[in-house]
Amino acid sequence: MKVLKFGGTSVGSAERMKGVVKLISDGNTKIVVLSAMSGTTNSLIEFTNYLRIGNITGACEHTTVLQDKYKHTIRELYTTAQYAEMANEKIASLFNHLRDLAQKPLTAELEKEIVAQGEIMSTNMVTLYMQEQGIDAVLLNSFDFMRLAPNGEPDLGYIREHLLPLVDLEANGRIYIAQGFVCLNHQGNIDNLQRGGSDYTATLIGAAVNAEEVQIWTDIDGMHNNDPRIVDNTKPVHHLHFEESAELAYFGAKILHPTCILPAKLTGTPVRLLNTMDPTAEGTLIDNNLTRPGEIKAIAAKDGITALKIKSGRMLLAYGFLRKVFEVFETYKTSIDMICTSEVGVSMSIDDDRKLDLIVDELQKYGTVTIDRDMCIICVVGDLNWENTGFEARAMEAMKDIPVRMVSYGGSNYNISFLVREEDKERALRSLSATIFDEKK
Ligand code: ADP
Ligand code: ASP
Ligand code: MG
Repeated sequence: MKVLKFGGTSVGSAERMKGVVKLISDGNTKIVVLSAMSGTTNSLIEFTNYLRIGNITGACEHTTVLQDKYKHTIRELYTTAQYAEMANEKIASLFNHLRDLAQKPLTAELEKEIVAQGEIMSTNMVTLYMQEQGIDAVLLNSFDFMRLAPNGEPDLGYIREHLLPLVDLEANGRIYIAQGFVCLNHQGNIDNLQRGGSDYTATLIGAAVNAEEVQIWTDIDGMHNNDPRIVDNTKPVHHLHFEESAELAYFGAKILHPTCILPAKLTGTPVRLLNTMDPTAEGTLIDNNLTRPGEIKAIAAKDGITALKIKSGRMLLAYGFLRKVFEVFETYKTSIDMICTSEVGVSMSIDDDRKLDLIVDELQKYGTVTIDRDMCIICVVGDLNWENTGFEARAMEAMKDIPVRMVSYGGSNYNISFLVREEDKERALRSLSATIFDEKK
């Protein structure tokens, strides 16, 4: 049994929804995870922005514009008045619910309930369309099984236990449709898996049902060897190891949610990235095999990074120094991405700077702290086993004209990371592509 996920663009119009239904209706039982129609989540976030400044009228007007898009999609999608009416009623009730929520004081919980509505809308519309077409489609309610544990991470045990009774994996050709992105937290309040989280929903469901494969269908033919929004002539990478794809996703390759590879890696479920606009394109297969050993496969970049340096004469031969430093980050639940040490200091990078002031206050007990903001991690990924020679030199060569704040290599066999200024990101990505991919062979 396979789990298929379709992103916002893939369900972004009536035409696209019909395309998805054609793709998935091959007679095989499957679970299909859908994102909200493209633009909807952003629009719902804008709705909460109106509420935050107390502009309820503005918020409600905003929903009217969004609702018009849905009315248009419904007119184009259904062929029978009966199903169009059912969809109109469902969507209208969800928009009325949004307008009711607008009257309440805005809280973090309420915001999460608001942004969850996009996936509820798209899954209802597609399920009704499939039923209209005579397809055995069953709508699952992801809130019934998608849960976070008290640490804020998805609770795979709970998900498995609560999802399995809801699906009949032997059902003859039945297609289950589920909302991506949304979940409940451990207290039972509405939450989500962060932006782009539908990919994570798919791999979690894949792990929960022991799927033979998880397919992430999007608007590009797989993971490219560099960010196609920045670098010209990027090419799809046809195969990646779980670790390679996890590094790329975590360090900014937007095609995959940062942590969605973890459940697949855990259960060894292959993940395939495919293009809804070009379904026969090969895409990218991600699994536990290492192909093209000794090669750099792709480059990604993650913005919004802050670097901290702690310089201390006392670090010299002082065991326990790093532990004390790490404890500060642990206290403030801030994870460290890159770390470089020398005898007199240590530099670290973080992407979540909400607790930065508190962290700096505490770190100052151990030495002089300096901060560089608006930095960017450039991550070069491939089979970078230390015994292979030449990659570090090639990557460094590409960075020769770019000021590099930190370099990290050897933490895994799969990446070299550079910390540069955000303003140098594009130059760095282009230079790395030119040096590593264009001049190869
Ligand atoms: P979806 O809505 O289907 O989840 P996303 O917008 O989240 O799609 O991800 C697909 C987009 O990711 C592509 O359109 C592309 O612009 C962007 N992207 C960034 N880096 C890469 C990469 N290395 N390979 C492929 N796509 C990438
Ligand atoms: N709709 C959510 C978002 O836009 C989740 C997703 O598309 O994966 O982030
Ligand atoms: Mg996405």
